[in-house]
Formats: sequence, C-alpha cells, structure tokens
Amino acid sequence: MAVKVALVTGASAGIGEATALELQRLGYVVYAGARRVDRMAGLRDKGIRTLALDVTDEESARQAVATIEAEQGRIDVLVNNAGYGSYGAVEDVTLSEGQRQFDVNVFGAIRLIQLVTPVMRRQRSGRIINVSSVGGEIHTPFGAWYHGSKFALEGMSNVLRIDLAPFGIDVVVVQPGSTKSEWSGIAAEHLRETSGRGPYARAATNHAKAMTTGPLHDNASDPSVIAKTIGASVTARRPRTR
Ligand code: NDP
Repeated sequence: MAVKVALVTGASAGIGEATALELQRLGYVVYAGARRVDRMAGLRDKGIRTLALDVTDEESARQAVATIEAEQGRIDVLVNNAGYGSYGAVEDVTLSEGQRQFDVNVFGAIRLIQLVTPVMRRQRSGRIINVSSVGGEIHTPFGAWYHGSKFALEGMSNVLRIDLAPFGIDVVVVQPGSTKSEWSGIAAEHLRETSGRGPYARAATNHAKAMTTGPLHDNASDPSVIAKTIGASVTARRPRTR
C-alpha cells in the first residue's frame, strides 16, 4: 500500500503531540508542526518529522505544506489542532486579542485547509480533521471569544464537508471535552489577566480556579484518549457520496 502522509498542527504539546504519535502508530508518515520546535524533540526521536509552523503566518504555513509536498508528493490527512482559549468578559478583552483568538483557532485552520485542498483534490482523496471543542456547541462563563471561534470553525467545517465531498475529501469535527494539557492553565491565565480585577473579578477569579483545580480539572481526559478518537476518525471508512 502507498505511504499515507499526515500533518498535525499544534503538535508541541497535549492533544497534538499525542495525535502525532497515534497517527504514526497507525502507519502514517507524520509531520508535526508548531512554533516551539524544541518542544518536539521527543517526537523527532521517535521518527516523526517536525516543522516550524505558526498557523497565523502565511509564509510559515505555505513553507510547511510545500516541504511535505516536495518530500512526499501527497498529503492524506490534515489535523487542524493548534488552538488556545482566550478567556475574559467581552468588554475586558481587547479587540486585538479577540482577533488573535480567531487568527489562531479559525483563520489558522482555514489557512491550512486552503493550502492542502488543491493537493487533496489532485489526489481525489483526503481527510481534514478540525479539532473544535465541546465548547463548539455549549457555552461556559467568560468564554465568549473562545466559544465564538469554535462555533465559527464548526460552521465552516460543516459547509466545507458539503463542498469538498465531490472531490473525495472528508471533513471531520472532533469535540474534545476537558483534557489534561497546557490549555487550561493558559486559559485561566488569560482570564485572570483580563477580568481578574474590576467588576467581574470575583466570578472571574473563581472560574479561573475551577479551570485549573477541582472536579473538571481532576476528571479531565488524557490527551491520548482524544488522539485515539482522532485516529479512529482518520481511519474510519466513509460511505461514498457519489
Ligand atoms: P495545548 O495548549 O497543550 O497545546 C496547544 C498547541 O497549539 C501547542 O502545541 C501550541 O504549540 C499550538 N499552537 C498555539 N498557537 C499556535 C500557532 N499560532 N501556530 C501553531 N501552533 C500553535 O492545548 P491542547 O492540546 O489541549 O489543545 C489542542 C486543541 O484542542 C486546541 O484547539 C484546543 O482549543 C482544543 N481543546 C482542548 C481542550 C482541553 O481541555 N485541553 C478541550 C477542548 C478542545 P506552540 O505554542 O509550540 O506553537
């Protein structure tokens, strides 16, 4: 069987790192992308190829996809996983930070999709996995920007699934629940910085604490559990649409 090639974004930690390992276990040639290349040394030691990739940077994304095309001639799977949680009361989060949230969680994913779609169309096959969140369907306090970004990602994914089906390209949305990673610490820090003082301080401080301690935190899944779900959605057979 021909070599199958996967690109995982945000692979320097948490779900992305575990997904890179899972896809390798499933037999894929895996390219792991993130800004912190040094944090992917462990993946490199295991034979996974690593790329400096900032999903908000056009040139960086273009270069990553060009490298894979040059080395492998194909891209079978794109896992759009890079993301973070920008938390705070809407009035406390600057518009530039709100835009940054959408730049990473929405435009970052769409940028990679725009780059890999021509490759997958030529192959007449491909699978795009967009890592959203339960927060792409439900809402939590102070998460307006984060939830907004994941709702947008899901809305676009649902249209892309229709538009790309005739080319043999499938689009899957994965919605992790609370998962042990760097995510919750980063989101809680955002919340403390934005709304930790002022009119929302009490509720914001309590919520930041609940994100990093207590039942939600203690019962969070291991990233490998989410990686297995992503692996299953990559390898699952899909009914032919036409
Ligand atoms: P982590 O914070 O552990 O990892 C996030 C990854 O995203 C890192 O590898 C980071 O790499 C990367 N990243 C962030 N910004 C960029 C960027 N501009 N370009 C490229 N990579 C970037 O979080 P998780 O593993 O938990 O999160 C993965 C995904 O899962 C996210 O989309 C998150 O929203 C989603 N999710 C997480 C949940 C959780 O409870 N943990 C729950 C639901 C969804 P680097 O900084 O090196 O670039």
